[in-house]
Amino acid sequence: MRAFILLAPVLLSAPVLLCAQTPVNTLHKTTPKSQSPEGVHRSSLVIDTHADTPQRFVDEHFDLSDPLSGGNLNLESAHEGNLGAEFFSIWVEPIFYKGQYARRTLELIDSVKQQVAKHPKEMMFVATPDGIEYAHRTHKFAALMGIEGGHSIEDSIPLLRQYYALGVRYMTLTWSNSNGWADSSGDIDDKSIPHTKEGLTEFGKDVVYEMNRLGMMVDISHVSDRTFFRTLVITRAPVIASHSSARALCDAPRNMTDAMLVAVANSGGPNSKGGVVQVNFFSGFLSQPYRDALKAIQPKADKAVQELKDKAKAEGKEVTPGEIEKIQRSYADQIPRPPLSVLIDHIDHIAKVAGVDHVGLGSDFDGVSGQLPEGLDSAADLPKITAALMARGYSAEDCRKILGGNLLRVFREVEAVAKELQAEDRPRITDKQPFNEWQK
Ligand SMILES: [Zn+2]
Repeated sequence: MRAFILLAPVLLSAPVLLCAQTPVNTLHKTTPKSQSPEGVHRSSLVIDTHADTPQRFVDEHFDLSDPLSGGNLNLESAHEGNLGAEFFSIWVEPIFYKGQYARRTLELIDSVKQQVAKHPKEMMFVATPDGIEYAHRTHKFAALMGIEGGHSIEDSIPLLRQYYALGVRYMTLTWSNSNGWADSSGDIDDKSIPHTKEGLTEFGKDVVYEMNRLGMMVDISHVSDRTFFRTLVITRAPVIASHSSARALCDAPRNMTDAMLVAVANSGGPNSKGGVVQVNFFSGFLSQPYRDALKAIQPKADKAVQELKDKAKAEGKEVTPGEIEKIQRSYADQIPRPPLSVLIDHIDHIAKVAGVDHVGLGSDFDGVSGQLPEGLDSAADLPKITAALMARGYSAEDCRKILGGNLLRVFREVEAVAKELQAEDRPRITDKQPFNEWQK
């Protein structure tokens, strides 16, 4: 979601003995005895659709074999938490990197690939649902990528296509900034920002169509409500919310109303099995009291940031997003963390409103300044979610859907729709090329 800096004390010290994998009971002829939450979690394919770790790779030279050092994801924690696949977020801060969106996008993409190249025994780069399952079977951590914010394509369909070619498999139409062709919930009330008339411009519609045609999942986290509904009218494939929670439980503009949750569940064509909402773990999107406390402390944090900017300006320097993050985090750390149950409440709410086939996990690890519910410090704590769901009566089958099965189903359907569209007569969308006389 935003830049990240290491500040919190190192959470991991002694190596932890890992539990042996619990065998899956599917081969038994008789009905298997009720499985333990730990057994269910260990035997599930767990997929998370949003981690901002690539910024750490590039800006902090963080390696996935390093200790967490205040972060939420590394190879050890992924292994402990049985995290099978992660969609690494390719997020370009829109003000600091103005004029260099594509460059920064490519550097972040490269950083994910460099991590895979450094850890070939533990990791595998994949870009398909089959790839995720293959990595799981061969006990490797699957690395995938999603772009967070349509500004990365710099108003160019060819750039979108090349990001797909590099392995990007979802794109969040906007981050907190509107980009000229799609509007963001982050600035929709700001009159000084130009917004579209209908939520998407004609170019924005072309982007969604081309994503459908390529087989790139359309991600509606962060977009304004109008952009959300406009996108759902035109998309041919089911959509995802890669990291969004429920607005009925916490009134954040980028959380989803019950009507939106139902709309995601019904997205795609008439034969679609529908999309999925991957719940964000950020305390400020989960707990209303936490959010209110964060708002109350914001003026003080803003003042401290402004002082830093003024000081840097006087010295002829520029403040980095990481330095700003460090200050904001120091203020947010003063607020007591909400209990883990608030996260389970959101999963439960979405399962009840949209259906258990339409909810999953989109942690926002390494993107929320460590502001996660109590007991949820890293990927190693993911089994606690399964345990809490089962304590509320969710079956092993339901848990497997929430942990990754639902996302895998949507990803497969997006691929199938792409094949259909590629077989249609409609020509691919090409930007107008400059006219060259000599080609006549
Ligand atoms: Zn985000």
